[in-house]
Amino acid sequence: MLQQKSVQFMKLLFGFTLMLAAGVQAAEAAKPNVVILATGGTIAGSGATTTTTVGYTAATVGVDNLIKAVPELAKVANVKGEQVFQIASENMSNEHWLTLAKRVNALLAQRDVDGIVITHGTDTLEETAYFLDLTVKSKKPVVLVGAMRPSTAISADGPINLYNAVMLAASQEAVGKGVLVALNDQINAAREVTKTNTSTLDTFKTTELGMLGYFQGNKVHFYRQSTRKNTADTEFDVSNLTALPQVDIVYGYANMGPVALNALVAAGAKGIIHAGVGDGSLAAKVVPSLQAARKQGVVIVRAARVGQGIVARNGEANDDELDTVVSDTLNAQKARILLMLALTKTSDTKEIQRMFYTY
Ligand code: ASP
Repeated sequence: MLQQKSVQFMKLLFGFTLMLAAGVQAAEAAKPNVVILATGGTIAGSGATTTTTVGYTAATVGVDNLIKAVPELAKVANVKGEQVFQIASENMSNEHWLTLAKRVNALLAQRDVDGIVITHGTDTLEETAYFLDLTVKSKKPVVLVGAMRPSTAISADGPINLYNAVMLAASQEAVGKGVLVALNDQINAAREVTKTNTSTLDTFKTTELGMLGYFQGNKVHFYRQSTRKNTADTEFDVSNLTALPQVDIVYGYANMGPVALNALVAAGAKGIIHAGVGDGSLAAKVVPSLQAARKQGVVIVRAARVGQGIVARNGEANDDELDTVVSDTLNAQKARILLMLALTKTSDTKEIQRMFYTY
């Protein structure tokens, strides 16, 4: 009798365990699947002491350890990691971007991937974000995240930033919003965000057009969205590209001469971003070199070193006469990205101007 009872009890226990396991499986299946692509940067950096917040080494911690450091990630998504590169982002190149965009597109084409987080150095994070904003062919969330303090520092910002980024990539709210940047409890759009401070935690800002939203209470809160076309709605396709056209930047300043511009053109630049003073003004000493470059087929885009506002077409320079393009509100480093991609499609300046008003 006692034996029969204990067999019954064992059966019940077994059944209960099976139900529990099925429940866990169902809960995991219900959670979104997020892939973390790690590329290096300070978020993966380590310093000599816990108070080392400058003079540390970027890109030393692998993706598995980044994930292990934040067990809370499992609450919001099923997370997998891939080490794509392990570099400081000042070394990010066009080739890295092409590799990354292709990997993101391949992953997002999979039914079992709901979103991507990319860990990245903060120095060129805004550039990679905008490159992906123009070349990812999916509406699924893609979120870039970095940190201003290395992983070994007191109050390192990497873990909370990573948690927020995964929560964002796993959220329905982020679908169709273009590539996003998550740091310091704030959500910004790839096109507009920029690094504004060398070292403080609140360095990423969309100063005038405004951030998109916040992280608070384990939730994402959106308040606005960029009006410019992005991701699946762009005309750019990098799937068959192995290189991008050479585009360089010249920086405007008082007493500027044409030396840098001439050198870049002689080195084979197909496009030049002129980050002019004020509203993208051109110094008289530079104009003949710009005209000569244009005659050789080099496409010139007038951007502004001030970093805010619209560069007015036919404002400080006669763009119709010079056959130059204006950057609209893109800063010089992002104008470089759009011009490279534009040059993969056309060298017609009217078409390229249309693209600068579209993306
Ligand atoms: N130099 C570093 C990098 O961009 C800085 C950082 O990640 O904050 O990789």
